[in-house]
Amino acid sequence: MTDLEKPRTSGRPMVMAEGVRKSYGTVEVLKGIDLEVKQGEVFCLIGPSGSGKSTFLRCINHLEKINGGLLSVDGELVGYRMKGGKLHELKDREVALQRRDIGMVFQRFNLFPHMTALENVIEAPVQVKKESRADAKERAMALLERVGLADKAGNYPTQLSGGQQQRVAIARALAMKPKLMLFDEPTSALDPELVGDVLDVMRGLAEEGMTMIVVTHEMGFAREVGDALVFMDGGVVVESGHPRDVLTDPRHERTRAFLSKVL
Ligand code: ADP
Ligand code: MG
Repeated sequence: MTDLEKPRTSGRPMVMAEGVRKSYGTVEVLKGIDLEVKQGEVFCLIGPSGSGKSTFLRCINHLEKINGGLLSVDGELVGYRMKGGKLHELKDREVALQRRDIGMVFQRFNLFPHMTALENVIEAPVQVKKESRADAKERAMALLERVGLADKAGNYPTQLSGGQQQRVAIARALAMKPKLMLFDEPTSALDPELVGDVLDVMRGLAEEGMTMIVVTHEMGFAREVGDALVFMDGGVVVESGHPRDVLTDPRHERTRAFLSKVL
């Protein structure tokens, strides 16, 4: 086994989904999702538009509540679960604590427009974790350095390119010291020449052992960095495996059809 093939993961489950269901009104968009993301793993989620990828990420992060099944993060139940046939709901306080440990990066960068890059990064540590401004600022500068933007700390979002804004968004999520990072098509809204810098930051995070779920159409990234890959379609997991295997030798016709469009 070469260094590159060594598993990054400790094997401990970070996210467990068993029969996860989610409906909007009468429309069921997650129809029983089963998957497991191990600690330290880069877990890639692919699939056509409307297949439920964003909804699944949003359920992990409490932006949506599941209607059935079981979902846990680092051994703690998220949202609802089936309990003797009943749905069990967490207290607001429990939800808030869980959300602090999960970073999310969206397709649209969602930076606070009236704050500089630096202020965006220190906002949550100061407001949510009650860190001192001085400590938060010191760490924020280190994070901006890490995403290659130390010289842009004083810029407002409108004074940054899309790729730079996305890297600030990653730094902002990391400022909360998350144990899990969710990326929802982080490069889809970027001009092609800006994609590489964002993927490089994500690759660096992976190398440092961050557990990441990445919804992406960047198959090169999935193949090179991913430890596991799931193909979703119509609210179900159609196929999963090592990215190399799924991408080069898909077993299902639906996976093949999808890949022939994006590869
Ligand atoms: P993906 O991220 O794979 O493109 P989504 O999770 O965004 O898919 O959406 C899955 C399905 O759920 C789509 O049919 C979408 O229209 C629907 N959907 C998503 N969010 C909502 C919502 N808030 N209300 C109603 N339907 C929604
Ligand atoms: Mg989506």
